[in-house]
Amino acid sequence: MTESFLFFSFFYSFEAPGEPESGPGASSFSIPVEKKDDLILCRNCLEKVTNSRSMAAKEGAWEHTFTNAYGYVFRVGCFTTAPGCIKVAEPTEEFTWFKGYQWQFCLCRNCMQHLGWYYSSGRDSFFGLILTELLFQE
Ligand SMILES: [Zn+2]
Repeated sequence: MTESFLFFSFFYSFEAPGEPESGPGASSFSIPVEKKDDLILCRNCLEKVTNSRSMAAKEGAWEHTFTNAYGYVFRVGCFTTAPGCIKVAEPTEEFTWFKGYQWQFCLCRNCMQHLGWYYSSGRDSFFGLILTELLFQE
């Protein structure tokens, strides 16, 4: 885990509900869902992870906010493909954030940073990637 990861986890954990988004980092995550070809990179090593054309809404939204079993808050964006990710460990449904989907960890194929999770239901699959770990290129 990087320092920035911990910082953002802290920041979002203590954000008051309903408060307008402001403060460090917040503005860079208001990403419109547009079908463009902008590259999306690993923030840690700048490896190409996916592109904005792969953004996809799941359960009605592109972006989701989840809290894991340890209290860390993640802001996750959904992508149909992420060629820059490798999947690790066996798929599991334990604590899944998307009902009916199994998940695996996804790491950057270049630097092994944890970038998110791969979700698969058998009929549908997608990548849920942590927005604070990505770099969106214009
Ligand atoms: Zn990387």
